[in-house]
Amino acid sequence: MSKLRFRVVETAFTKKAIEVVTPTERPSEYYAKYVFNKEKMFKYLSSKVYQQLVDVIDNGAPLDRSIANEVAAGMKKWAIEMGVTHYTHWFAPLTEGTAEKHDAFIEHDGKGGVMEEFSGKLLVQQEPDASSFPNGGIRNTFEARGYSAWDPSSPAFIVDDTLCIPTIFIAYTGESLDYKAPLLKALRTVDKAATAVCKYFNPDVKKVIAYLGWEQEYFLVDEGLYAARPDLLLTGRTLMGHDSAKNQQLEDHYFGAIPTRVAAFMKDLEIEALKLGIPVKTRHNEVAPNQFELAPIYEECNLANDHNLLIMSLLRKISRRHGFRVLLHEKPFKGINGSGKHNNWSLGTDTGILLMAPGKTAEDNLRFVTFVVNTLMAVYRHNGLLKAAISSATNAHRLGANEAPPAIISSFLGKQLTQVLQHIEESTTDDLVTLAGKQGMKLDIPQIPELLIDNTDRNRTSPFAFTGNRFEFRAVGSEANCASAMIALNAAVAEQLTLFKHDVDELIEKGEPKISAILDILRRYIKICKPIHFDGNGYSEEWRMEAKKRGLDCETSVPVIFDNYLKPETISMFENTGVMSEKELEARNEVKWETYTKKIQIEARVLGDLAMNHIIPIATKYQSELIDNVYKLQGIFDHNKAIKLSSKNIELIEDIAKHTQYIKEHVDTMVAARKIANKIESEREKAIAYHDTIAPALDEIRYHIDKLELIVDNQMWTLPKYRELLFIR
Ligand code: ADP
Ligand code: MG
Repeated sequence: MSKLRFRVVETAFTKKAIEVVTPTERPSEYYAKYVFNKEKMFKYLSSKVYQQLVDVIDNGAPLDRSIANEVAAGMKKWAIEMGVTHYTHWFAPLTEGTAEKHDAFIEHDGKGGVMEEFSGKLLVQQEPDASSFPNGGIRNTFEARGYSAWDPSSPAFIVDDTLCIPTIFIAYTGESLDYKAPLLKALRTVDKAATAVCKYFNPDVKKVIAYLGWEQEYFLVDEGLYAARPDLLLTGRTLMGHDSAKNQQLEDHYFGAIPTRVAAFMKDLEIEALKLGIPVKTRHNEVAPNQFELAPIYEECNLANDHNLLIMSLLRKISRRHGFRVLLHEKPFKGINGSGKHNNWSLGTDTGILLMAPGKTAEDNLRFVTFVVNTLMAVYRHNGLLKAAISSATNAHRLGANEAPPAIISSFLGKQLTQVLQHIEESTTDDLVTLAGKQGMKLDIPQIPELLIDNTDRNRTSPFAFTGNRFEFRAVGSEANCASAMIALNAAVAEQLTLFKHDVDELIEKGEPKISAILDILRRYIKICKPIHFDGNGYSEEWRMEAKKRGLDCETSVPVIFDNYLKPETISMFENTGVMSEKELEARNEVKWETYTKKIQIEARVLGDLAMNHIIPIATKYQSELIDNVYKLQGIFDHNKAIKLSSKNIELIEDIAKHTQYIKEHVDTMVAARKIANKIESEREKAIAYHDTIAPALDEIRYHIDKLELIVDNQMWTLPKYRELLFIR
């Protein structure tokens, strides 16, 4: 498909690094070339159908099936002109990643030949043979059907020779089996709830859009070295490996010059992303060596999420073109920074107002404070759930580690916003009260004048930070589907805004003026949600103690954190907002526990195999060489002198014996623990057993392997070391 030209240039390392030759067109000319966006819809559809489809996309109008045939015909015409031969329903099942099954456009033409065919029926709905996707028991075999259904709000796009149609994936009985279906419901419910609250301030608002701007972090490793590390290949992270003498101590990688080979890869990636309509904007080196970040301009949440899923597959594909492998795992290397995916989130109106941004008038600012405080309330009331939404076996290695957000959800507000909230809380009347701000700014209530919220006041340790015109949910993992976090956050905020509206209306009905009623309720909420607000150092031990006292969820075991999805307040929140039913939540938790178990199980097997087949044999071989040396010295020198000369080698022989023995013992114990855990029926209990008894063994075994790595002859050590993996030349 791609018209890109490449030039192969030689580098010292691979001898075949690829330099991307920039297309002759400008980005604005090839942007969204492979997307069936409004421009193409206009060209390939009748104006009536175009209007109807735009109404579906922009205003959430119900999709009239009668237009499907014409839309399908238009899409097919465009796709075939683009050289496409296949189509697929593209969806995000409950695994991390996307699924697709390609079908060719061809059908029999009745005259012994074939013709290109794509009907509305095939566009709107399909029944993928997908019985082996995780479903948590929702699809018993007799009703094992699952449907994928077209999501017109996210445009179809072309990858290689295939037209990809974004779809939701649901069971025959209607339960969602994917991330997109509940995400669309959460976005709809937050739209309704927020629009209702906006009407207090601006009756013209008809729709509220949730925005998402993700920042994707990732590592690159050389493909050849990657292939020589079975642990990276099979688990996405290094299960062993001693620190490199140099890693990130000097912090010389952060925002540093991007290595040529990597720059070529990034350029290629960005061109492909832009052609798919992903507005990638920012790229830079991250803190750790070989770690990078990519961020687009924020978009409507559902679209942004599809774009993130697409970028993850583009990263995988394009990295290989350049002799790299991309690591999206949250913690591929021990002892150096992990990768996250900050989710910048905000709400905005169809009238163009960002609701999390202060404005120019008093009413603007009251609206701003209203949305901020309600967000804080939602995050406070559902802090355990939000943590569950970002928890996984892989992200567990990153959270709580010293450079990542702690496994406690709290919110950073910064000095100015803190003062504003404090001021509202303490004010007893609605009269003018003034507060000196940073620049001597005056804040009047309810006549709140221009607020200048300082967004340079950054606190990198906060998992949920206010950053000027949005909140930044930083605890999300690099490998995760952002939808998980966005479903929980948007649904929780929707529930909270509905409660707020109810509380305010109650006061208004009693005769209190609107502004005064809003302020009264905000005052009450500011007091209630105080425990979630924390501007200090999230990495400190004191915060852990303090958070516990404040009643925030401090659980660190991932399988237990998942229980938050089944707490009565979570179930009622998801049911009242219409986002998910109790049955769906139960089924999804089964999948979460099962996935957790499988991930640890695979790691345990891989490490066990490597320890027994690679590490112990190599260490023993080296030990034999040392023993051989001790014996041989005795042939040259008298016994006492030989022993004296061998004393250091004898120490090494003993060390190796100690470590190999320890490794063998612990592998045996780990295998035994696995056998016990595997017999447990309940997915929850099994995951807990894996967390409590098997995961810790991985670290213990690793400790001894890493010690051996320092002792054993470098030439014998077959696995590439951190110092090789981490530095691209
Ligand atoms: P930083 O690394 O300093 O947080 P970046 O520029 O890397 O900043 O990323 C910020 C992300 O936040 C971008 O994707 C940007 O488009 C997005 N963003 C900016 N404003 C908003 C907003 N109001 N709502 C949602 N996302 C936003
Ligand atoms: Mg950020």
